[in-house]
Amino acid sequence: MASGREIDVLIVGAGNAALAAAVSAREQGAARVVALEKAPRTLRGGNTHYSGGLLRIAFDAPDDLRALVPDAEREVPGFYKGVEPYPHRVFMADLLRVTDGRTDPELAELLIGRSLDTATWMARQGIEMEPAVSLSAVKVGDTFKWSPGAVIRARHEGVGLSAMWFKVAERHGVEIRYDTAAVRLLQDRSGRVTGVAAHGPDGLHEIAAKAVVLGCGGFEANPEWRARYLGRPWDHAKVRGTRYNTGDGLRMAMEIRALPHGQWTGCHSTPIDADAPPHGDRKLTDKTNRLSYPYGVLVNVRGQRFFDEGEDFQFYTYAKLGGIILNEPGGIGWQIFDAKVTHLLEGRYKTGTPVVADTLEALLERLPLDRATCRRVLEAYNGATAEGRFDPTVRDGLATRGLPVPKSNWAQRLDTPPFVAYPVTGGITFTFGGVRVTDRAQVLSTSWAPIPGLYACGEMVGGLFHGNYPGGTGLMSGAVFGRLAGTHAAKA
Ligand SMILES: Cc1cc2nc3c(=O)[nH]c(=O)nc-3n(C[C@H](O)[C@H](O)[C@H](O)COP(=O)(O)OP(=O)(O)OC[C@H]3O[C@@H](n4cnc5c(N)ncnc54)[C@H](O)[C@@H]3O)c2cc1C
Repeated sequence: MASGREIDVLIVGAGNAALAAAVSAREQGAARVVALEKAPRTLRGGNTHYSGGLLRIAFDAPDDLRALVPDAEREVPGFYKGVEPYPHRVFMADLLRVTDGRTDPELAELLIGRSLDTATWMARQGIEMEPAVSLSAVKVGDTFKWSPGAVIRARHEGVGLSAMWFKVAERHGVEIRYDTAAVRLLQDRSGRVTGVAAHGPDGLHEIAAKAVVLGCGGFEANPEWRARYLGRPWDHAKVRGTRYNTGDGLRMAMEIRALPHGQWTGCHSTPIDADAPPHGDRKLTDKTNRLSYPYGVLVNVRGQRFFDEGEDFQFYTYAKLGGIILNEPGGIGWQIFDAKVTHLLEGRYKTGTPVVADTLEALLERLPLDRATCRRVLEAYNGATAEGRFDPTVRDGLATRGLPVPKSNWAQRLDTPPFVAYPVTGGITFTFGGVRVTDRAQVLSTSWAPIPGLYACGEMVGGLFHGNYPGGTGLMSGAVFGRLAGTHAAKA
């Protein structure tokens, strides 16, 4: 590609949202599309690389998924039998419920309404997908039961998704400049965005373009911004993914009067191994997650329970639980299970080393917590469980009675040795605050008018998530708004 030719669409970032934008811009006729990636090639791909690759998709009939996973029946015999439809209204109800009704209705409508079509478009581009067996399936007899709406993931998870996006983008002739950070947006006198100032291997330079798409993530990897917007104890949080999402795109956009939107004090944060590294590990990726807590009991260093482990399926509670743990003394807790449920623990638990003992008393002896309190708490918990059938595939209503902190489902006595305990902390995934975009992914200014030539997608889009989040929605949102941004940036 001739380096002197004018750039039609300049993309900032190289994760799922940015590369969806780059590919759709090329598809819509943009002759020259360039993506800037702040990371070196070896660390490319943002949070997308570290993700589980799970995609939450609305669909009316299991058959609608055929175009996404043509090999599903071969890979998971009986696949379609175990999949329940997940229509638009159920996805919307889930999003409204977990965000306490605060999700932006127009953005939510776009995300949900375009989820299947966008996933199908991704598949057409060459993004291969597979049933998300290890993430969301529970085997009952010879059938897998799937968590509603969270059935499909990119083949080989985030590592595969990121690698496939780079391949697709390169095939479309998208030029990717590594080690190159956008630092400032350029504007003409009319206010139109005309490119960016960037810092690359040869230092500072300006890059002109007819339109700019910002897809460069939130501020999860910036401790100063975390302290500023999320407050204590977020400056101490471990970062689950990339170290490069430091809020640059949000800062640049707001410097030219972009309108902030959504919950700036909120973020996605999950229970992870307390010994996880300070930033995401390229090989471990999301394997530090500890999401089988609905089957056990969670205690803090004071030996107390502090969360309804069985409030809902893990995919509707995990994204807020990280923050709740981080706010407990020392920012840590222990997930305790007995032998009745250890076969249900996600495969990811194998990356950790549990404390194991043959009695609860011996287990507590080995945990650095207030044993006397914990003993009382676990006795009270065991005494408060009810008779009934435990069923991990539904909200089984097996609830405790009379505890100050209830467990609403899957509450069974801890009584079968061996007992295991996994230490957990809260790891930050991404931030919820962003900029306000239109239905064309154009960035609005504080005058509530689109900033000409400026688009945003992915984690930078504010308004969708508040307090919590339904699993698999981040990548879907990135793909939907990335595709929209690329399409309209190309037309601009
Ligand atoms: C461990 C983990 C597991 C996850 N699992 C899932 C899952 O299974 N399903 C799901 O839906 N979501 C999941 N998520 C969330 C999901 O990964 C993100 O929401 C999504 O990847 C965000 O995509 P994005 O394109 O907006 O940002 P990213 O993929 O983070 O990409 C941002 C890009 O911008 C670049 N960048 C940053 N600043 C600049 C700059 N100044 N100039 C140039 N480039 C810059 C970064 O290097 C990166 O390439 C997970 C996240 C993590 C961390």
